[in-house]
Formats: sequence, C-alpha cells, structure tokens
Amino acid sequence: MSDYDYDLFVIGAGSGGVRAARVSAAHGAKVAVAEEYRVGGTCVIRGCVPKKLLVYGAHFAEDLQDARRFGWDVPDCTFNWPVLRDNVLADVDRLNGLYTQTLDNHGVEIIHERATIAGPHEVRLASGRTLTAKYILVAVGAWPMVPDCEGAEYGITSNEVFHLETMPRRVVIAGGGYIANEFAGIFHEFGAHVTIVNRSDTILRGYDEQIRDRLLQISMMKGIDFRFNAPFEKVVKKDDGSLTVHMKGCDPIDCDVLLFATGRKPKTEGLGLENAAVELDGQGAIKVDDYSQSTCPSIYAVGDVTNRVQLTPVAIREGQAFADTVFDNNPHTVDYNCIPSAVFSHPPMAGVGMTEAEARNTLGSIKVYTSDFRAMKNVLAGRNERGLYKMICNAETGKVVGLHMIGPDAPEILQAAAIAVKAGLTKQAFDDTVALHPSMAEELVLMR
Ligand code: NDP
Repeated sequence: MSDYDYDLFVIGAGSGGVRAARVSAAHGAKVAVAEEYRVGGTCVIRGCVPKKLLVYGAHFAEDLQDARRFGWDVPDCTFNWPVLRDNVLADVDRLNGLYTQTLDNHGVEIIHERATIAGPHEVRLASGRTLTAKYILVAVGAWPMVPDCEGAEYGITSNEVFHLETMPRRVVIAGGGYIANEFAGIFHEFGAHVTIVNRSDTILRGYDEQIRDRLLQISMMKGIDFRFNAPFEKVVKKDDGSLTVHMKGCDPIDCDVLLFATGRKPKTEGLGLENAAVELDGQGAIKVDDYSQSTCPSIYAVGDVTNRVQLTPVAIREGQAFADTVFDNNPHTVDYNCIPSAVFSHPPMAGVGMTEAEARNTLGSIKVYTSDFRAMKNVLAGRNERGLYKMICNAETGKVVGLHMIGPDAPEILQAAAIAVKAGLTKQAFDDTVALHPSMAEELVLMR
C-alpha cells in the first residue's frame, strides 16, 4: 500500500497535464488531475484550435472573391458571425468531451475543482479537502497579461474573443505578437477595421526580420492600420458603449472592441508554491531542471507555467518526458533545438532554426538564399501578394540552419521541411531533390 492517496496529482488539464496524466496512468501510476475550468486547456478551449477554425472561416472572404476570377458566379455573400462562433464553440465542446474520455479510459480521476499546493506531497482542493501524492505535477499554463492603464478593464483578451456577441466594426489590438497578428487577420477578413497598436516599433519579435516585414507590408496593403511606439495611456468608455483608446505619441482611436494581446504570464499566483519551497524566476515561472523537476524534489512542472517555449507541442513533449522519466524508468529530456513555429496570419508565416540575424551573430559566415514569388493562384486571382521563402546556411558546411517563409500554406510546407533542417541536411540535399511542379513548395529546392 502506498503512503499517499495518489502516485501522481496533476494540477491543470491542458495539453501538458493531460499527456502526463494519461501516460503516467498507462505506466501503472494511480493518477488524479484537478481542473478548475474545462479539460483541454488553453489550446483546445480558447487558443490554437478555435483560433485556427476562425482563420479558416476568415479565409473564405478572400476565396469567395478570388473564385470569381476562376469563373465562378459568386453572388454577394454576407458573413454571419453567430453561426461561425456557435459552430466553433460546439467543436470545442466535442474536443473537451474527447479529452475527458481519454482520461477516463486511462483510469485517471478528474477532479473539477481548483487545487493549490499545501506541501511537498499535499494539495488542497477548493472544497477544503486535502489529498496526498508521491509526485505533484503543476501544469496550469499561462494567462493573458493586461498592461496596467486606466480603463484597461474595458478591453478583452483572447479568453473572451471567441464569445463576442456581435462582430465589431472597429477593433484595436494591443500588442504586435502572435495573437495580435492572427486576430488582426481574422477581424479584417470579417469586415472590421483593425488597428494594431504596439509599444515598440516592431511586430513578431524573434521571427526573421525580412519575413515579418513582408507580413507588415501585406497587412498594410490589405487595410490593417499600425501604430508603433505607442504605449497605452488610458481607455475611456463612451455612453454608447464604444471605447476611445488614448496612447502616447499618437491620436486617440475609437473602437468597439479593444483586444489585449500583450503576452501571457505563468499562472502561478495563489498556487501555494511557497508551501513547498518551489522557486519562481523573475517572470513568475516555475524554475525547473532539464527533467522538469522544480526546486522541491516531489514537484514537477511542464508547459507554459515554466515559460520555456510557450507552444502546445512543447508542453506535450514535456508531459510525455516527465511521465516516462518518473513512471517508466526511462529518463529523457526534451530537445528544444529547431522547434518549428507558425503565425496563422493572413497570409501565414512559419519558421524553424536561426533567423538571419541570429545566424550571423552565432556563425559569423553564412549564406542566405531567397525566393520571392507570387503564388500561381494569386496571379490568376489578381491578388498582388508575394510569398517569400528564405534559407540560411552555414557558409562553410552548407548546412541549413534556418528556414523561414510567408505565403499560402506556409505552416503546412514548413512542418515537412523542418524535418530536413532538424536532420541537419545541407543546401545541396535540397538542390538534389527534384522539384514537384507546379507547387509553391518547389521553391524550397530552387532557391538561389
Ligand atoms: P507575444 O509574446 O507573441 O507578443 C506580445 C506583444 O505584446 C509584443 O508585441 C510585445 O511588445 C507586447 N507587450 C509585451 N508586454 C507588454 C506590455 N506590458 N505592455 C504593452 N505591450 C506589451 O504574445 P501573445 O499575447 O501574442 O501570445 C502569447 C504567447 O502565446 C506567444 O508568445 C506564443 O508563445 C503563444 N501563441 C502561439 C501561437 C502560435 O503558435 N501560432 C498563437 C498564439 C499564441 P514588443 O514588441 O516590445 O515585444
């Protein structure tokens, strides 16, 4: 008989927590998972999945327009936001059910309550019950960060954006990162006037400069407005319910919805981590070693709460590695090298490995190849929107150290190409591969 109620108690049923719980249970552990909201976490409930469905929905605006150039007689179409919203939310319900079922099938007990840490082996539930576990895994994720300014409470975050009653006419988006650019594309395609306001003079810091410049150029051409170096001063709500956003250095902007997309911070506040001497870093993230073990040996943490790489597939790998290490006597760590990522903007962009600037700083001598092209479909559609692919190589070895792209289906193409980059292939290996014609992806093997 174990001295504890459970072998593993997981706090948070998001991507990382669910993977860790189900694999640990499959390895024979007695597992419980506490979730205060809905099983599935940010990605499934109010992130990647519903966002991607909205991106698909938004793209029809351009597809319907382009279809006319391809001979289709398309009558004037109108967009019905409540229909899409409700269909997306129904799909979220479906996935929530599937995630719950997966846990049930593996014999993981789901406790629908908030849990906090009461000690190295102890959790306290909101109902007052205390439970014990040999190991505790914290997988509570991150939460939208809202800048501290007067009237900030009138804005919404990505948590609320999927539930809007009506499609706003004018949207201001604070921030210039992933969520800002993805929702700028979505709202714009649905007919809203969008202004992105960022505190700095850049969008999508961390992505290759040329690629993000291309997105900026295309977004502006489409009619999305940008304000840079414009930190928020205050937000004023008017009698008709609309808002006026005041910023430093530029004129106030009126809008119907203000979306804060200014980063996400680890959700560690009030979690009782101090009761087990679990240390946090300066950003409030749980400090962990390569095996996701915190400064308290019985407590581990995976996913966004550790602020390593805030991406779902990374959290899933961390959850898997934790379960294998602790419950299958198979210690292994996550390889953070060459993680592909994408921004589902209109058009989308994607990248893997070093940007040109990073490669210059790290390797010194590099070679850069690009292909700047107009996709065949865009040519016939009369859409003046150019894609850009960029390959960065070590000048001495020819090894591809970075691949970045913007254009239709860039994330789909990049995922496959990332395998070659991860495998350490050279530019010559790409050149040796015969082009698949006609495709956009063939540009990968034709770059000069
Ligand atoms: P990002 O980190 O991508 O961008 C945050 C933006 O907000 C930056 O432009 C930043 O400015 C600005 N900012 C940061 N702090 C403040 C502040 N205090 N006041 C004003 N502006 C501020 O965050 P997101 O919220 O867009 O997304 C959160 C995370 O979620 C992402 O980092 C990503 O890991 C994940 N995500 C991934 C997606 C994907 O894989 N496709 C989609 C959506 C989210 P500055 O220019 O100075 O950096």
